[in-house]
Order: sequence, then structure tokens, then C-alpha cells
Amino acid sequence: MKAVRTADTIRRLEADHIVQFYRRAPVVFALGQGSRLYDLDGRPFLDLVSGAGTAALGHAHPRLASVIAEQARTLLQPSNLYYQPFQGELASRLAGLTGLPRVFFSNSGTEAVETALKLARRYWHTRGETGRTEIVALEHAFHGRTLGSLSVTWEERYRRPFAPLLGGIKFVPPNDPDRLLAAVSSSTAAIIFEPVQGDGGMRPLTPAFAQAAERARAATGALLIADEVQCGLGRTGHALHSLALELRPDLVAVGKGLGAGLPIAATLASEAVAETVAYGDHGCTQGGNLITCRAALVFLDELENGLLAHVRRAGAHLEQGLRALSRKHEMIIDIRGAGLMWGIELPGDAAPVVEAALHRGLLIHRHLAAPAVVRLLPPLTISEAELDEALEILDAALGAAPAAVDTGAA
Ligand SMILES: *Cc1c(COP(=O)(O)O)cnc(C)c1O
Repeated sequence: MKAVRTADTIRRLEADHIVQFYRRAPVVFALGQGSRLYDLDGRPFLDLVSGAGTAALGHAHPRLASVIAEQARTLLQPSNLYYQPFQGELASRLAGLTGLPRVFFSNSGTEAVETALKLARRYWHTRGETGRTEIVALEHAFHGRTLGSLSVTWEERYRRPFAPLLGGIKFVPPNDPDRLLAAVSSSTAAIIFEPVQGDGGMRPLTPAFAQAAERARAATGALLIADEVQCGLGRTGHALHSLALELRPDLVAVGKGLGAGLPIAATLASEAVAETVAYGDHGCTQGGNLITCRAALVFLDELENGLLAHVRRAGAHLEQGLRALSRKHEMIIDIRGAGLMWGIELPGDAAPVVEAALHRGLLIHRHLAAPAVVRLLPPLTISEAELDEALEILDAALGAAPAAVDTGAA
């Protein structure tokens, strides 16, 4: 496809008309292929951001593209007032993969979390415990940007400009079982956590902490909500990372990779939670439309046809390479993650490393909520050769940027 505008025009139009929530890197992408993006001049970039984890099958996946095109010619959305051919099928596939039998579709991760929070409220309301509304969440958590999910998000900078948010939220440190058990009581409606914390610093929860969450539920009845929008559906080599931790959440939010680039998210629920709702309690006009359901079905086909095993192999390969990098570069404080979801913690702001990588043709990311952590979220389909190429560029970028990182310069 030929770009009709120059990079300068595109940047000027945005500067004049886009609400400035995102400080974009100075590059315009109009084409993708597999694990690579191309700028307007055709310069290739190896993509270890993959649309913040959405392009799980890489870019321009041939079967995904043809299924989307076919569905676009057929029907997009008759509305959720009627049956359509694919929602039930997708829900049953998700149920089979995750063990949670009920599904509600929405368009984004924050909506999936919002739905989980509302279902937790609905559950206690239906059971006559209308005052049971407290939520226990984790420090460094990221759950989204709408008011409910923002209320359980840790980063003060995200929350403060939009106060007051939901009341009754208690934050406890991740991986501190005693603090969790002390915080949960018979007033706790739910405990919400990311099994691998993403934007807040790529931090996996420990099995001991997962066991404590299970114990807290057993003791108090508090529901467990796993936010697997980033770490679920294959990202760590498991259908859900909760399964790897032997957690049995009552509610799970998934999103990001589910539509392999199209906006679809889902809230998965146990029968005990789902049976407490009534018709009309909640809804989502565009949720689960045909084109996004079909994209998700293609994604699940791939996941079940060898992609999970590929992620485990490629993830182990990436981990090995990152550990070698951390032995070589003294400034690396920690390497954390699972599968194809990794963080590299540096002594200061990682922005110079991200920029040095961009100059060398590698896309990596550092989040405002954890600015010292380089975030790696490659497409799940990335090859080991491409990972080796990425590691080589990372090596050079780390070598080029240490002075800036040490002083914490942005
Ligand atoms: C990205 C993310 C969200 C929010 O998803 P959106 O699609 O941006 O609304 C929620 N939870 C987690 C764990 C995420 O990584």
C-alpha cells in the first residue's frame, strides 16, 4: 500500500488534532509482515512490542487476513440482541482451554476487567451481602484506564488526576503471602491480580503467593479475579498463567492477543458467579462482533496447533539470551518474566536504551509505570533466529546507552 502522506504531515495533523495522551516515538508505520514493521521509507524494524502484545500472530498473518476479509464481505454485527454463528463457538473454545465455562465478550482489556469487577459486585449483591464491596489489589498492578479498573491500578500518577475513584480498595505488595492474608477479610468481595504483572514491571507472582490467594478465598469466600489480559492465552506458554500457578480463579479477564490485532476481550466466569446475573444487568454493543470472533477463532486454532509449544521453546531461548546479556552488562539489575514476556530492570530510566534500539532497527518498550524496566513482548510466532537478532541489537543498545541510564536521564 502506498502512503499518501509524508511523515511530517502525519505528525503535524496529530499534533494539531489528537488528544496528547501518548508521547509517540518519531516513526510512522504503515506496513507489517511477520515479526517486522516497516516505516514510510521502507526501513524494517524487528518488532518486540507487537502492538503491546496484540499482534500475537505477528503482522499480516495470511490466514487471519483472509478470514477477516471473507467475514467483512458477509456480516459484521447484527447486534447482541440476536444470535450469530460465532460467539457461542468462541466461548466454548475458551471454556475448553481455560476450564471456566461462561464468557462475556467486550472490546478491550479494561472493559473485561470492568466486567469482572461488576460480576464480583453482582455476586455478593445477589447473595444478599450488599455491603461486601472491598477489593484487595496488588502494588504495581495495571488493570486498565476506565474508572473501575483504574481504581485497582497501583500507579499514583495514573489515578490522581481522576480522583475520586472507587472506594474500599486495599493494595498489598505482590509476593508477600502474609500481607495478603492479613488484608483479606469477610468484607473482601474479590482479590484482583495479574499472574505475571505486566506494565508495572514484568513481575511473575510466586507459587507461594498464589497458594496464599487460594487460602484467602477458602477462608473468606472472597472471589479471585485473574487479570490475564497481558499474560494469558499463550503469552507465557500456557492457556492461562493461572493454570501454571495452580490457581483456580472465579473470574479471568483476557484481551490483547485474543483478536490477534483486532479489538476483542473476554471475561471468563465460573458457573457460580455467572448464575447470579439477570438479563439487562450489563452489556456491550460492539462486543463479540463476527469479525473479531472469527479473528479470535483463528488465533485459538494457531494456539492449539503448536503455538503454545513454540512459545515455551522460544521463551526458554530468549531467557537464556537475556541471562547471558545480564552477565555481560553489569548495569542489568534483574531479568524477570515467563514465556515470551520479559522485563530487563536497569538502574534508571530505560528510555535511552529503547531509543538506542530504535536507531538500530529494534522495537522495545519501557512503560511510564515502570520506567526502569525494558519490556519485551514479541509476537508469539517469533522465530529463534529473530530472537537472536533482537538479542544482538539489545546488546549493542545496552552498550551504547549506559551513561545515560546511570544518571536516570530520560
Ligand atoms: C493492557 C492491559 C489492560 C488494559 O487493556 P486495554 O485493552 O488497553 O483496555 C488491562 N490489564 C492488563 C494486565 C493489561 O496488560
